Amino acid sequence: MSENISVLGLGLMGSALAEALMAAGHRVTVWNRTPAKADPLVAKGAARAATPAAAVEASPLVIACLLDYPSVYDVLKDTELSGRVLANLTSGRPAEAREAASWAAEQGADYLDGGIMAVPQMIANPGALILYSGSEPAFDRHEPALAALADARYVGADPGMAPLLDLAMLTGMYGQMAGVLEAAALVTSAKFPLTEFTTTLLIPWLNAMAALAPVWAEKIETGDHHTEVSNLEINRVGLENLARAFREQGVKPDLLLPMKTIIDQRTARGLGHEGLSGLVEELYN
Ligand code: NDP
Repeated sequence: MSENISVLGLGLMGSALAEALMAAGHRVTVWNRTPAKADPLVAKGAARAATPAAAVEASPLVIACLLDYPSVYDVLKDTELSGRVLANLTSGRPAEAREAASWAAEQGADYLDGGIMAVPQMIANPGALILYSGSEPAFDRHEPALAALADARYVGADPGMAPLLDLAMLTGMYGQMAGVLEAAALVTSAKFPLTEFTTTLLIPWLNAMAALAPVWAEKIETGDHHTEVSNLEINRVGLENLARAFREQGVKPDLLLPMKTIIDQRTARGLGHEGLSGLVEELYN
């Protein structure tokens, strides 16, 4: 069913969102601080709002995709959000999302916070995911429209949950990147063809390791860090060996060393017999 939807913020991501909604047959009103960025969308049939207030007035569903949360308040401060759903797809911290939800409630609006797990080119294509948290009734009401952007996954009433899971997924990505970059430096230092290493050796290995994540999750959830695979002491020696080999090869192991520090800390507590999953216990304040 076609909806009236307003999109505020037409940077790379906001423009992709507005375009996807139009392609799905929705009536889209757009506003951007720099008005010229709306031109391509207006040329394709979007309605141009002269002010944020006019954009908000045009639709029951208001999507904000701006630089950061302060810019969201800047843009929405003189608008009449009462009775509308604000879907804030601006990236931020869980605490910012909770504050924004309280602010929206003061304005009389329902609030959804969104974590976009995609680059603009992926929007409306397979593989794109947007996590939503906040008002479940608002999500249910607008899910068909939101599904035009990406796989739309509701993750809970706490507005901070979507940004938290977004950050958790990025954390997994950065960890993987750190390993890939270190491996690339080591392989290149030995003049082995990196593309061949990546495609024929590294990717199958990472996929096999990633498949073990649910086993780790169960151990962390139960607090049972007993292992029959490889204990911390073996990994401590392994990482020491790895760091030494890196240096002998003229490569700094700096992206891996923080992990070694945590392993050293845990084994120093006499827990070297445990598996790697126990390291999570060292990370809580
Ligand atoms: P852009 O830099 O392309 O766009 C930023 C947008 O914010 C522009 O519309 C800009 O307006 C607007 N803006 C910035 N400050 C203000 C302000 N004070 N008042 C009004 N408008 C303001 O960024 P993206 O579109 O890439 O990103 C937007 C959001 O989407 C970010 O939170 C980002 O983290 C998130 N995101 C982006 C992804 C990506 O791959 N691009 C992936 C996942 C999330 P103007 O045009 O006038 O400068």
